[in-house]
Amino acid sequence: MKIINVEKIPEIIKKWQNDCEVFVPVDNEGAVDFIPWSEGSKITLEGNSLVPPKKLFFPQTETLYKYETKGQSANVIALEEKTAQRIIFGIRPCDLKSLEMLDDVFLTKGFVDPYYKLKRENTALVALLCAEACDTCFCTSMNIDPGAASGADIVACKSGEQLGLQAQTEKGEELLNKVSQLTTEGEIDFKKAGNFKLQADIEGLAEKLKEHFESPYWEAACRKCIGCGTCTYLCPTCHCFDINSNTRGDHGIKTRCWDSCMFSEYTLMAGGHNPRPGKKERFRQRFLHKLQYFPERYNKTACVGCGRCLAKCPAIVDITRIITELREVTGIGTGNVESVS
Ligand code: SF4
Ligand code: SF4
Repeated sequence: MKIINVEKIPEIIKKWQNDCEVFVPVDNEGAVDFIPWSEGSKITLEGNSLVPPKKLFFPQTETLYKYETKGQSANVIALEEKTAQRIIFGIRPCDLKSLEMLDDVFLTKGFVDPYYKLKRENTALVALLCAEACDTCFCTSMNIDPGAASGADIVACKSGEQLGLQAQTEKGEELLNKVSQLTTEGEIDFKKAGNFKLQADIEGLAEKLKEHFESPYWEAACRKCIGCGTCTYLCPTCHCFDINSNTRGDHGIKTRCWDSCMFSEYTLMAGGHNPRPGKKERFRQRFLHKLQYFPERYNKTACVGCGRCLAKCPAIVDITRIITELREVTGIGTGNVESVS
């Protein structure tokens, strides 16, 4: 393992930045955000980002292509592919796991999204293991180990003022070789987070939920939700989007932007029909997608226990409580279902 004092992290980043762009977690007026490193950037190794690093693979707004129109015909102008290499430094194990789910959606089952694919291929990942759980974290309930990061090129762990760096891939080895003059060989005493206040038991739930689409539970559970969409925008596994054309005269651009199943317009059709007309249907969709439909299609629960949704929901809708209540509704848990109202 390579060791470096945390004070020297900017020197490592600076070296890497000679060849590529390096995104780092920075405290931005109280909220951690992944931004390109520049001289003076205040890197933070505490907590997790407000907006997950999915934004670097699936941006909130992204131009897909340009076009020109001539009478009834149109000419599509492909954008120049950005092939520059990037590094994300400090991605947490939960967000790393969420990339596996985005890979499932954007790269498998016969569908390959070239925009997402290029960014994934051009990005090296330096994962930062978690020594402390936030009050809203429950990744272990989703079978994620806060002390491991498979899928990362380099795994970093902090103990006191020391940071350990271990390469896991060839790409990771190359990156560490570039900064070998700044590191020493050694081991550090890292203890992974173990004090999780929240838990959720998803065992057997996906199968049972199939029979509870029409349960009165959904009507009761959705009551507090105001349909703001915060939960879905901040979720590292949510991936709904809308596509828009912006035309000026005879030319325009095609963009896609994040959308949310919690918005009434999301499923509104041109003729005015909406298959999810009310809050109940939209709320049910969010939870069934994560807990039943995604496991059915990809054999994974579409939640990594990052806790962002419950930390920022203005109505304090807590997915761990919803899971517990659903266990009761479906008969695999014990307790009083009426408490949801
Ligand atoms: S953040 Fe809360 S209130 Fe807003 S849409 Fe999600 S569950 Fe509803
Ligand atoms: S559903 Fe909530 S806790 Fe689960 S991954 Fe999404 S934001 Fe994180």
